[in-house]
Amino acid sequence: MKTRILFISFVTALLIVFVTGIAIAKELTLFYYDGHMHTVRSDGSGSVADIKATAISRGLSAVIITDHCYELDRAEWDSLVAECAAASDSTFLALPGFEVTGSDGIFNRTHVNALGVDDPFVGDDDCLCPEEVWPSPLNPAGTGAVYPENVTKWVDYIHSKGGIAVHNHPSGTTLLSYGVNNMEVYNQSHVDDVIGYAQQLGYPPNQAWAFGITLNNFALYGERDANMLVPFPGYPTPIPLRMALYIATQYFPPYIGQWLGAPQAPLNSWDNLLMAYVNGTAETPIFGLANSDAHNTGAVDSDVGVAKNGVYLKKGLTAKELYNAIKAGHTFGTTGPSLALKVNGELMGDTAYVSDGSADISLSVNSESPTAVLVKIDIIKNGSIWQTISPFAITYTTTLEDAGVTCDGYYRVEVTSLDVVSGSYYFAWSNPVFVRIPD
Ligand SMILES: [Zn+2]
Ligand SMILES: [Zn+2]
Repeated sequence: MKTRILFISFVTALLIVFVTGIAIAKELTLFYYDGHMHTVRSDGSGSVADIKATAISRGLSAVIITDHCYELDRAEWDSLVAECAAASDSTFLALPGFEVTGSDGIFNRTHVNALGVDDPFVGDDDCLCPEEVWPSPLNPAGTGAVYPENVTKWVDYIHSKGGIAVHNHPSGTTLLSYGVNNMEVYNQSHVDDVIGYAQQLGYPPNQAWAFGITLNNFALYGERDANMLVPFPGYPTPIPLRMALYIATQYFPPYIGQWLGAPQAPLNSWDNLLMAYVNGTAETPIFGLANSDAHNTGAVDSDVGVAKNGVYLKKGLTAKELYNAIKAGHTFGTTGPSLALKVNGELMGDTAYVSDGSADISLSVNSESPTAVLVKIDIIKNGSIWQTISPFAITYTTTLEDAGVTCDGYYRVEVTSLDVVSGSYYFAWSNPVFVRIPD
């Protein structure tokens, strides 16, 4: 008996040495990819080759091309797969995906991206897409899906094919019941659309831009910003964002005065969704992504890579590694700055086990531009801002101790940089590192 215990201890010790050895030997490498864009096969203007050229010029190592499924037939899908294969090598990946496209309208879209699925078409049909089998029409009463169960069916279909499901430009309408793996915390094309609407409404360009970013943040953070005061044309004093949206959407088709967070779509901010995972209501967390959703992919200065994701890979650049990292949350979304966040040595997406009530948060941020400074870093703990740092520097590295870890939760960071020459702001959003207190 004693010999057996000794033997088991010996094997355990060997395993620990072996596993630790791997952990030290495998360096994480940072790559960038943009996971949402369109070609001429749907409503984009460019080809895979055009996309690759822009992507490389913007420092990307991978793109995932996601034409609207309902606009594809078998021949088009096959040609996309072939073009992607031809554009991929050991230094660059072009991967075929597709967008399941339900309702449209600025606050009314139900769209889900499918990543890593070989065949979009349901059953034996050569062009029948998930949105055609399980429709998601416009919701005349407000935001969110009329048939949320159909969005769940899309996601189930994507999962049945081994793929990853991403809720696109969600406008705060992501439901836990959808079962998506990821959601876009930033979609460049959606923000640009909101800016366009705001300009039609009479906002001057800089205010329209701020409105677009504010609305995106609102979709991201939910109730935290629901009553943020925003200037509104024709009103002498700023009004709550909720009211601004209500008034603004009465002036544009479909003229329904949508409220974000309508009863049909309870406003689930990203933090609420993450807390649902912490509290055990959801089995898996929903990780955040930032994508360009470029449609002008044929233009030399197209939006490909204007929003993108940094992804930490252990075994180099392959489709499998990339998809695994997206699913595991080993990524951050960004329009500029880079970042690395670890808690007790655990990377974004992973879980740190804290038994002594104290966690070490290591953060490293870079504006990635010689003319941009980091103006604000918010560290979010369990849905609330825990600390705000204003480095006013190009790079910033720190390790902070939180001695108040009394319950399960998470940390994530939001970064704002300012280009002092152009006056433009750039953003980055880390995925969370979860914290668990062992029983
Ligand atoms: Zn879309
Ligand atoms: Zn799209």
